[in-house]
Amino acid sequence: MTYVTGFIQHVTSYMGWLLPMYESGLIRDFSNIGLATPARLFPGFPARSDTETKLIAPRGCEKVDLKTGDLLSLRSSETATALVVAIDVSGADGSALLGLSADTSLVPRAFDAARLGGWLQARGQSLGDHRAARVPVEDLGAFAVTGDCTVWIAAPSDSATLVDGTAAASILLEIKRSAPNGTVLPEPLGEIRDEFTVPRGTALAYEVAAGELVQIIDVEGQQCSDFTAFRADALRQGDEVMIDSTATRSMVRQPYPSPGLLDKFFDRDMAPMLRVVQDTCGRHDTFGLACTARSYEDRGFPGHLNCSDNMSEALDPFGVVRRAAWPAVNFFWNTWIDPNTHQILTEESHSRPGDYVVMEAQDHLVCVSTACPGAISVWRMTIF
Ligand SMILES: [Zn+2]
Repeated sequence: MTYVTGFIQHVTSYMGWLLPMYESGLIRDFSNIGLATPARLFPGFPARSDTETKLIAPRGCEKVDLKTGDLLSLRSSETATALVVAIDVSGADGSALLGLSADTSLVPRAFDAARLGGWLQARGQSLGDHRAARVPVEDLGAFAVTGDCTVWIAAPSDSATLVDGTAAASILLEIKRSAPNGTVLPEPLGEIRDEFTVPRGTALAYEVAAGELVQIIDVEGQQCSDFTAFRADALRQGDEVMIDSTATRSMVRQPYPSPGLLDKFFDRDMAPMLRVVQDTCGRHDTFGLACTARSYEDRGFPGHLNCSDNMSEALDPFGVVRRAAWPAVNFFWNTWIDPNTHQILTEESHSRPGDYVVMEAQDHLVCVSTACPGAISVWRMTIF
């Protein structure tokens, strides 16, 4: 078994502040298992196929972001027709980039168009602004993509056919990437007030108003972003009222809150500070400190970059007293307590490129987020 032990990697976290979300649905089901995600490393598992696949059920509609040189093919076990909506980077019809011509109006009732409609709405457009190409899915080769575009592919079928069993066949998408394993930014969940990338080995402090949402995105997968938040009003009076993980664990009866019931981070007075609205990873840590100079020194790396010092520096303009070790919510860091030995265990992060956590501020907060240098993790090592 071979572990990944050293390669240079940009560890970055991406943050966005959101105003009301386009969709406020909870994400509670995690499917972070399997090999069909780029940039995840499982020692001992068979090599990953370089072909991405998506299955479109009757009335389904799937989105793929394509780059120049990618190959897209459509397959089906029976005769089927796909509706292909291609949109170029300027938001205009991009059918020509796939060698297609869009000549069919988008009829919402022909397939489940809610996601496509929401995606267009986020770009100031609507279904009526676009047309689809009707593509017979039989004995087909691959489309060579000649320019960057977003493609929505639907398997049209009348809803009644799902009831009487005459629905059209599912369609299988196959995508071969010209450059696999890039970074991933998920679709915007709402109107974005501000957004930043936290470069590797740094921290960023920022204010979030009550009711605003903060989204923390792991853009490359298997990274770690340490986080905490302070009440801004108390901080102005010199009182550091911050997330208290002991209080939070006691309140939610689990290591960290998750969407749905028991979804809040609390302070020392058991008052809620942040509500977790969505979490696409579901594996984090609140047992450990943010990494410290001492933790690296003990392992033979004196003077190493570390999240605690980075947090102290980022929080200095807000009058927060410097600490050698910060308690933190370590997002995407995978820990648990072994039921037999009661040891805290850690293993490879479950986060995929583009996984994120969205939280709603319950008060005016000063938050801090790091992109952990994580230099002695056996899972993803970063060399400086
Ligand atoms: Zn760290």
